[in-house]
Amino acid sequence: MSAESTDTKFIVPIKGVEKSIKLDDRAKSELHAIGMMDDKGKLKLKGVSPKMLKRMKMEAVDCPVFKKELGFIQCYVCSNFHSRIMGKVYCKGEPLT
Ligand code: SF4
Repeated sequence: MSAESTDTKFIVPIKGVEKSIKLDDRAKSELHAIGMMDDKGKLKLKGVSPKMLKRMKMEAVDCPVFKKELGFIQCYVCSNFHSRIMGKVYCKGEPLT
């Protein structure tokens, strides 16, 4: 039995924001730990061009797990992130603290 099809618990629409939402400290230290952020706090997401990164900064989700609005970059690197299809995040919805 494959877990793939049951992986997604929430389908979360991605919305545009006027002002980019800052990464919180938790996201920053996680990004740093997995090598996606350098010591200067500059993001280095694999396979994401600077242009895409710029666009991602102006996107956000109302996260059903953390129950708050989060910038899309934070969502993208979240362990619950499964995929992004047609402007929606497929979220595994595991409880996270
Ligand atoms: S992937 Fe993470 S940040 Fe994104 S909606 Fe799911 S729990 Fe929230």
